[in-house]
Amino acid sequence: MIKITRPRDSAPADLIRRGRAELRKNLALEPKKRVFKEYGSTAVRERLAELFGRKCMFCESLLAGTQSGDVEHYRPKGKVVVTVKTAKVAAEVIPGYFWLGAKWPNLLLSCSDCNRPRTQDDFDGNARVIGKANFFPLVDETKRAKGTWRVRQEEPLLLNPCIDDPAEHLVFLEDGRVEARVIDGVPSAKGTASIYYLGLARAELLQMRARHGRMVRAAIRHTLSALKEGRDPGADLEDLEAFLMPTEPYVAFSRVLIYKYMREHLAALGLSV
Ligand SMILES: [Zn+2]
Repeated sequence: MIKITRPRDSAPADLIRRGRAELRKNLALEPKKRVFKEYGSTAVRERLAELFGRKCMFCESLLAGTQSGDVEHYRPKGKVVVTVKTAKVAAEVIPGYFWLGAKWPNLLLSCSDCNRPRTQDDFDGNARVIGKANFFPLVDETKRAKGTWRVRQEEPLLLNPCIDDPAEHLVFLEDGRVEARVIDGVPSAKGTASIYYLGLARAELLQMRARHGRMVRAAIRHTLSALKEGRDPGADLEDLEAFLMPTEPYVAFSRVLIYKYMREHLAALGLSV
């Protein structure tokens, strides 16, 4: 995940008008009968992809060529699962942020594995249900917003790439693993929760990041060899530039590798991480 700036006034024009109409209808309905359709329009999906790339805004996996991606609500629209069911206690589920159902700043493009609950192997080989689903944990549950005017007092535990700088909360290791950044001796709570709920350390994702890392390291190796021998790095430098484009997959990880091995050459090569 990387920090991404959502341009001001970038919402599809129709979304604002149609979203207001949908909200007016939903305000008159009981929570269970509310209908949310406007967020999922082709215009919304295409605008998100145009601005942020055809990739998941959470795990940075490419959607292009495999799936259209989910238009995901950062704050869940229908309901919020506060606590999961255990053997002794029923799940605690509360109404969602229905007034944000078609609000542009609440919409992100996500892959189905980050978004939808599905049993997957985690980093440790143990299978568990992974996916953001209707989770939206807060630092302090008592500050949960009950209406639009109280959203600002919430402290969400899940990273939002359009608000937070994920690099302050997540650390990528050279083999593709990810951990919560330790700040003053304590792992970032946002990093920890985001890795857990979004499954940023799920086994298949680690394999894909490791595979990507091998390609980045090859371009680094070839570029460094060219520099050492006084040759023009040519296509390998172009590959490095491409790996660093914000719309490319696993950019957060590419930045870490390129900085680690090439920091003293970055300025001369015109690379910015
Ligand atoms: Zn994802």
